[in-house]
This record gives sequence, structure tokens and C-alpha cells, in this order.
Amino acid sequence: MSRFLSQRFAGLEAYIPGEQPQDMNYIKLNTNESPFPPAPAVQEAVNAAEIGRLNLYPDPEGRALRETLAKRYGVKMENIFLANGSDELLNFFFMAFCDEERPVAYPSISYGFYPVYASLYRLPHTEIPLREGFRLEPEDYCGIGKNIVIANPNAPTGQSISVDDIERIVQSNPDHAVMIDEAYIDFGGESCLPLAGKYENLLVCQTFSKFRSLAGGRLGFAIGSPALIGDLDKLRYSTNSYNINRLTMAAAIATIENDGYYENNSRIIQENRSYTTEALGRLGFETLPSRANFIFTRCPRVDGGRLYRELKARGVLVRHWDKPEIADWCRVTIGSREQMDIFLEKVREILKEAE
Ligand code: PMP
Repeated sequence: MSRFLSQRFAGLEAYIPGEQPQDMNYIKLNTNESPFPPAPAVQEAVNAAEIGRLNLYPDPEGRALRETLAKRYGVKMENIFLANGSDELLNFFFMAFCDEERPVAYPSISYGFYPVYASLYRLPHTEIPLREGFRLEPEDYCGIGKNIVIANPNAPTGQSISVDDIERIVQSNPDHAVMIDEAYIDFGGESCLPLAGKYENLLVCQTFSKFRSLAGGRLGFAIGSPALIGDLDKLRYSTNSYNINRLTMAAAIATIENDGYYENNSRIIQENRSYTTEALGRLGFETLPSRANFIFTRCPRVDGGRLYRELKARGVLVRHWDKPEIADWCRVTIGSREQMDIFLEKVREILKEAE
């Protein structure tokens, strides 16, 4: 730390992204990316239309993309906000709606960026413990009089709550903003987007990074009431009005136009999720039921940290956290069948050595 850093940030613990090592060609099952490339039409759209126009700024309102999304989700353009990944969207949510008078609450085991934003903005915050079996109990969020952020399905557990439960939470906190982070909704979950038109305090956040194979393009979006979207936009124009670049906007429009390709990929991921869960079960692993493109799993014989290290030494990356409540567990992204077979083969090797 230099002597010039503002004291406000002296105690800030930054988010640590999943490793992206360059030293060898790992099988990457650690950051919940899609194993499938963008649809061919997406690559063509970027090449054909936009690369030659990179001398020009992108549309700061992202109108073409917002129109495409509005049509796809049956809402109006003014219900849609675009961000540079859903991480940026979360940043704007914490910045816009939370302060000393309006504290924020989120589950104690969830996406690691929530506490970082709470700390960045020095917000009073409550981490609501999960119940037995990492279950999120909706009652714990009803009428709490705080802004709320919930990932549904939750990460890293993969568990989800119903749209009815979300509606009860939103209804019972009418004077507070509720953000439902649906980063992983397209792998068998039920989206609460239909509620977004009904409640002025609900924002639903999605990303192009997982189901839509565009993690490198950095695009997230929120759907909510025009008033909430307007507030987010005010902050966006006060930080970076050109937050979505031209190539990403062109790629995203072509992505939405090729939904069938991504639906099919999601079906394959869900099949591979069952396949991997069953194979691990035969090896004695306990795996939580998941509605996401990852599983949360533990081995009774090899602790989470050791499994992570041994897999990494064999060229397979998974995610492990040292946090005591989840130190036994690893989160494994579901990739292609070939990737999952290599993962399982390495797990068998590790178990054999541990005998
Ligand atoms: N929310 C959750 C729950 C996540 O796991 C992630 C990805 N790590 C994000 C949001 C952010 O995704 P992105 O910024 O790539 O849209």
C-alpha cells in the first residue's frame, strides 16, 4: 500500500477472482464459464459489423441491445439496464440504494463479491446464516426492513428457492430494494422475471457470462421498474457512460437471436451435471442438488483443500474456500462430457492414493 491511498480503503479486502493461471493448459472447472464457444453467428456478427467501427464510441444507451432484450423478455426498454458484467451491476446496486439508513442483507454463504461491495461503501450489513444443509430459509428475509441481495440459485451451493418465496420476500420489504441475482438461472431454475413488472422494489439481475458463453465479453443486465433503472443509470453516467463496448453489444444481440444453440448447450450441461453427481456418489462423495452449472461436493476421505490441490497438480482446476463452514467442500463447474470424464479419472486416482 502506498502512503497515498485514501484511509477509506486501508482496511478494504478486495475480491479474489477464481484463478486464471497461464502456466499450463488446465481443464478449467473453477469459474463457472461455459465449455462451449459462442454460436458461429455471434462470431460473424462481431467480425462483420463492428471491428471496422472501433474508432467510434458505442451507443451509451445501448438501444439496439436493450430493444432486443426487451423483446426477448416481454418488457419495455426502460425496464432494462446494461452493465459491464453483473459484477458492475451489483456495484451500482450497492452504490445507489444502500447507505447508513438503508443497510443491506445477504446470505452468509453466497457470492463473495457481496461483502466486498458492502465493505467498499462502508455499509452496515447483515450476513444471514443459511440453515441446515446450506438451505436458504425465505422467512429469514421477510419483513427485515433492509435492502436484500440473494443469488438464486445460490453460489457456491447451487440451491434455489421458489418464485413464490421470492415474491413473499419482495412484498414484505416494500420500502427496500431487493436484488435477485440470477447468474445461474438458465440451467434448470425458475426465473422471477415475471415479478419484475409487478413490484417497484425488485431488480432481477442476469449475466451473459454463463448460459450465453460470453464471459470474456463482460455483459450483465437488470430488469426492474423504470424508476430503479433510472437511478442505476444516473450512477452509470456518473462513472462510465460507455460501459458496454461495441463488440460486446453486437455479440450479445446475435446471442439472443441464437437462443436455440444455448438452450441445447444448457441441456448438455444439465445432463453432465447428473452424470457427474452420480459418478461422484458412487465414489462416496456427498453432492448438494444443484440447479446451476456447477456442483458443490465433498469427499468423506479427502478434505476440500487437499482435493483442490491434488486436482490442480493433475491439471484440473476447481474452486475451494478456506472459510471454516465450507472448507470440506469444493465447487466444480460442469463442463463438457470429456472434461468431466478427465475430472472423474483424476478424482479416482487421488482416492486410490489416499487409501
Ligand atoms: N453473481 C454470481 C452469483 C456469480 O457467481 C457471478 C460470477 N462469478 C457473478 C454474479 C458475476 O458474473 P459476471 O460479472 O461475469 O456477470
